[in-house]
Amino acid sequence: MSKDPQQTEQWHQIQEIMNDPDDTTPDQGDARKLGYVLEVIQEGVWDWKAKTGHVERSPGWYRMLDYDVGVFPETVFTWENVIHPDDFATVMQHFEDYTSGSIATYEIEYRCRKAGGEYLWIRDQGKIVERNPDGSVARMIGAHLDIHEQKIAQFTLHRQNELLSEDKFTLENLVKQRTSELQEANRKLEENIKQIDQLSNTDYLTAIYNRQKLEKELNHEIARSKRYRSPFSVALFDIDNFKTINDTCGHQVGDLVLQKIGQLTRENIRETDVLGRWGGDEFFIILPGVDLEQAMLSIEKIRCLISEAELYNSLKLTSSFGVTEYTQGDTVGSIYKRTDTALYQAKNSGRNRVVSY
Ligand code: GH3
Ligand code: MG
Repeated sequence: MSKDPQQTEQWHQIQEIMNDPDDTTPDQGDARKLGYVLEVIQEGVWDWKAKTGHVERSPGWYRMLDYDVGVFPETVFTWENVIHPDDFATVMQHFEDYTSGSIATYEIEYRCRKAGGEYLWIRDQGKIVERNPDGSVARMIGAHLDIHEQKIAQFTLHRQNELLSEDKFTLENLVKQRTSELQEANRKLEENIKQIDQLSNTDYLTAIYNRQKLEKELNHEIARSKRYRSPFSVALFDIDNFKTINDTCGHQVGDLVLQKIGQLTRENIRETDVLGRWGGDEFFIILPGVDLEQAMLSIEKIRCLISEAELYNSLKLTSSFGVTEYTQGDTVGSIYKRTDTALYQAKNSGRNRVVSY
């Protein structure tokens, strides 16, 4: 039995009517009892007799829709008139499908207009209880049940689910958007780091490596040489009488000459060789995998190229070179020192030459 207090009360009322000892004549008593039951029942019971078109409706039917009991004619038009216009066609189709035998049950949910003009969701269930000799419907009985609250709850739930999935969608989009923004920010950051790294390794004037980067590369090369026992050589060179260029042509020309020598040297060393400006008019070259003999040949070639190049108008300059090969136990300092000594010797022995240590 239902736990709904209203339905419980209704059930007690029906039991009292059915057990009434005053009703002695079976037929009359049963008809009266049925009338009483229809009186108290909340559902809107309907009874349609097809031949006459007469439809009897229980008081519950009127009460459900807030109409005064019996206010409408007892015809099918009363029913048709209260159906929501948007539901009308579906309801009629369902009714016809059932009465023609296309479907086995008549059960449909739709809206009926209440006295105040608003609509109430009901479930309409019916059954053919009598047929004419030709098989057509003679009588059909059914009931309208108020399912409004249940229906509204269903709609609310549905809408909430829709909103939830929309929210999820928006959230996913937001995450996607934020992710691509972060990726873009990361990309810019990496670019900035690269730029900063490049700047910190590059000589501002000549755009070749600076001393800091040269020392790093020299350390790498020392480690590599230890690991693989492979040779490498280095060369330090200094422009001969560079001061006179500054003094006679100006500092700017001096700068230009430094740039030109850097560019020329870079263009004439191997891809794997490392070139940088050690400072002032001093340049440094690392030649990985190259022993002293080969290094002397390569550096001699560079010396010639520089001495023959027209660095500014027809101005030509020479350079002096100190070359050395890495030996076990060398440090950046010890290697540089040997090249510096060799360079010093090159200067002292007349400049424009390559001296090895
Ligand atoms: P040496 O043959 O003995 O090398 O004679 P030098 O005249 O080249 O003398 P040194 O190498 O000792 O002097 C280098 C000069 O280079 C000193 C300085 O004025 C100049 N110099 C250093 N850095 C720059 C620079 O960035 N631009 C210019 N224009 N000149 C520089
Ligand atoms: Mg010099």
